[in-house]
Amino acid sequence: MRLEIRQFLCLKDNIGALVRAPESGATAAVDAPEAEPILAALRKEGWPLTDIFVTHHHADHVQGIGALRSAFPNVRVTGPAREAAAIGGLDREVEDGDTIYLGSHAAKVISVPGHTLGHIAYWFEGDAVLFAGDTLFAMGCGRPFETPPEILYRSLLKLAALPAATQIYCGHEYTLANARFALSVEPRNTALQRRAEAVTELGAEGRLTLPTELLLEKATNPFLRVTEPDIQANLGLAGADPAEVFAALRERKNRT
Ligand code: ZN
Ligand code: FE
Repeated sequence: MRLEIRQFLCLKDNIGALVRAPESGATAAVDAPEAEPILAALRKEGWPLTDIFVTHHHADHVQGIGALRSAFPNVRVTGPAREAAAIGGLDREVEDGDTIYLGSHAAKVISVPGHTLGHIAYWFEGDAVLFAGDTLFAMGCGRPFETPPEILYRSLLKLAALPAATQIYCGHEYTLANARFALSVEPRNTALQRRAEAVTELGAEGRLTLPTELLLEKATNPFLRVTEPDIQANLGLAGADPAEVFAALRERKNRT
C-alpha cells in the first residue's frame, strides 16, 4: 500500500507533513515546525505519532519536538548525526546511506549539505517520495547558510539524479515568490510560464502548491537549470562553470 501523506501550513510559511504507513499505522512527522497544527492533524486523522524525522537543526524545523514528545512519550526522534548536538535529544542519529523504516516502507537517508552542514533528506525509494527539507523548493532552493554555494549545488545535483517521477515534499511554501524570481531569469521558458500561472491560481485559492515532482523542477527550477544558455546569458555568465552560475543565481535571489 502507498504511504499516506498530509501537509498543512505551520508558523508563517513552513509546511508540516505527516506520513503514515497504512499497513502498520506507523506515522511520522517530518520536522516539527509547530506542535499545535501537527497535533491537530493527528487528531483529525486519528493517527498516533510514532516517529519524527528531522531534516536539519533550524528552530523552525525542531521547536515542536518537545510538545510532540509530551503528547506521545514513546515517539522516536530521528535526525542527522552531524547536527545531533545542535538539535539535542535525538533517539536515533542517521547519516548518508542509512536506511530507516516507517513500518515496512524503507527511507534512504541522503546527505545534502548546504542550507546547513548536516542537512539530510529522506527518500522513500519504493514510494517515489522525497522529503527534501530546506534544500530544494518548488522553483527554488534553500539558502546556503553553512557552506559555500557550490556545496549546495552538488547536493541539488544528487537530488536531481533521483527518478524523474519522484514526488518532492519541501519545508516551506515559497512557491509564488520563487516563480516570480524564476521568470525574471528565464522569461522565455514556456513550461515555467505555465507553471507560474498554475501556482498563482492555487495561491489565490489559498491552497498549497506542493508536493512537486522532480521532472517538473528540472523543467522550471532555475537552480537546476544553470547550464541553460538563457539563464547564463541573463546573468552575464554565458559559458561559465555551472557551479559559478549557481552561486551568482543564489546571490541574486538573496537580494530579492
Ligand atoms: Zn532551515
Ligand atoms: Fe526552514
